[in-house]
Amino acid sequence: MNDEQLAVCEFCGQTFYSEAETAMERKKEALMKCKCDEAVRARKKLEYITKAKRELREVFRYDFFQESENAYGEMQEKIMEIISLILPYMVDFEVYGLTVSIPSLGKITLKVTSDGEIKIKRQIGATIEKKVSK
Ligand SMILES: [Zn+2]
Repeated sequence: MNDEQLAVCEFCGQTFYSEAETAMERKKEALMKCKCDEAVRARKKLEYITKAKRELREVFRYDFFQESENAYGEMQEKIMEIISLILPYMVDFEVYGLTVSIPSLGKITLKVTSDGEIKIKRQIGATIEKKVSK
């Protein structure tokens, strides 16, 4: 077995046999397989970021599908992209919360729990609230 066939955990150095072709893929494979605390925590963060991105799409879709079949406009895609950039900082507790007010959507609030999970909620007027996170 040579180095090309080994996936190495970036945190603890444990190695796994790998058939992935690129160094990047092997690194990710090791991250997904390793049972060390750091790898488990890193997987949890990835899971929270993925979940938050999915919920963001749900929030942004809400009003727009009423207007057209194409649920996301260019502006919405860009704003979602910008908000997505902050998600890794939230799971790392560098940023605790973010609120974005968009005239056509309302007030979107992202908050991180003590566990590192990102909760997203949308407030449409003073009283109507749509909670996205379960
Ligand atoms: Zn590890």
